[in-house]
Amino acid sequence: MTDITLNDGRIMPALGMGTYKVPDSQAAMVVRAGVDTGFRLVDTAAFYHNERGVGEGLRGSDAFVTTKLWNDRHEDAEVALDESLALLGRDSVDLYLIHWPSPTQGKFVSAWKTLVKLRESGKAKSIGVSNFLARHLERVIDATGVVPAVNQIELHPRFQQVELRSWMEESGIVAQSWSPLGQGDILSDSAIVAIARKHGRSPAQVVIAWHLALGLSVIPKAGSPDHLAENAAAAALVLDEEDMAAIAALDSEDGRIGPDPMSM
Ligand code: NDP
Repeated sequence: MTDITLNDGRIMPALGMGTYKVPDSQAAMVVRAGVDTGFRLVDTAAFYHNERGVGEGLRGSDAFVTTKLWNDRHEDAEVALDESLALLGRDSVDLYLIHWPSPTQGKFVSAWKTLVKLRESGKAKSIGVSNFLARHLERVIDATGVVPAVNQIELHPRFQQVELRSWMEESGIVAQSWSPLGQGDILSDSAIVAIARKHGRSPAQVVIAWHLALGLSVIPKAGSPDHLAENAAAAALVLDEEDMAAIAALDSEDGRIGPDPMSM
């Protein structure tokens, strides 16, 4: 599976597994199945209330782990990370993200300053953000001179974020796609199904291969061993120009599924 070099020089696997809505009680089993299948990156968050199970599932593996700072802890990021580390059962995370800019609170710049210190202390090996628009990225960069390594954003064939992606690419920020399968909805799209038939692969594999072909990091969530195995194998699928053009045409201004970052 492909690796991506972050702007701090560290290496992150491009393909990972999401764990939103995986209950804490099942997280150890699902994460262990994912690691056994070949996933080397696992995405969680304090907000998912499953860090204990995720940590248990990761025990004994050297997979890359990401967790996130929830919105009500922007003034309290060091304690919040300590709490996440205690639940995960480790001394550091590979990547710590501010989950949402939450602009109405106006505290994300001060949270970012704390994340910079947490990286210096080694508790967070790399630091980044999630759901930040260019204007939020500019604010944290101007305030600290430290460019987030990653911005994890909603990104799937119906919401391709072309403008933000190109802004981030110029700034050296890796885009990581959340809800990369459109929470499953995109898998029945006729264009995706046709490409899947052409290659003798599944629709989920086509969509994951599309993210990887664009140089994105991608974290599909799967609850079953079959889906996990299918998603891990997507890294081997190479799409052609015609496939990429057909998927590019699915982009829509109304394609957003999750919340607007300005409203969170
Ligand atoms: P996804 O786009 O990853 O879709 C998940 C859905 O797709 C599930 O219903 C899953 O079913 C189904 N699925 C997965 N693999 C297959 C397959 N091979 N064939 C058919 N169906 C499949 O949605 P998520 O919203 O979960 O996003 C992924 C991850 O992104 C989250 O888990 C989380 O880690 C992160 N995220 C981050 C956010 C942020 O604000 N930073 C917001 C939202 C998500 P099943 O479970 O039955 O396998």
